[in-house]
Amino acid sequence: MRCFKHHSTDAVAVCACCGRALCPDCVQTPTATRIVCSSDCANALARDAKAVQLLLDKSAQSAKASAFYCYLTAALSAGASIAAWFMLPSPFLIYFTAACALVLFAAGFWYRRVARKHGLDA
Ligand SMILES: [Zn+2]
Ligand SMILES: [Zn+2]
Repeated sequence: MRCFKHHSTDAVAVCACCGRALCPDCVQTPTATRIVCSSDCANALARDAKAVQLLLDKSAQSAKASAFYCYLTAALSAGASIAAWFMLPSPFLIYFTAACALVLFAAGFWYRRVARKHGLDA
């Protein structure tokens, strides 16, 4: 593979942004983890990284919100199963609401772990 600019020189790297082949002279950031051909490409990559980070933050926040709603509905289901225990002579309803509470609590726990993984303290 030859450099995209210097056709007689062998390429040693490829731009991480636009995919052009680069010779040692054309590599703009030899010390960076991702090699780029120009400052334009470096900026584009930095912008992408920022967008991804923003997306991750957002998903962590929504996971946090989901965890909260799971705990809330789990608490409501637990309350309903206790109410059913006292007010309804139906074991099925009691077991059903109790099972709902357990599943929702587990889901809330899982969402919380997802939020933690993304670096947000839930
Ligand atoms: Zn490039
Ligand atoms: Zn070159």
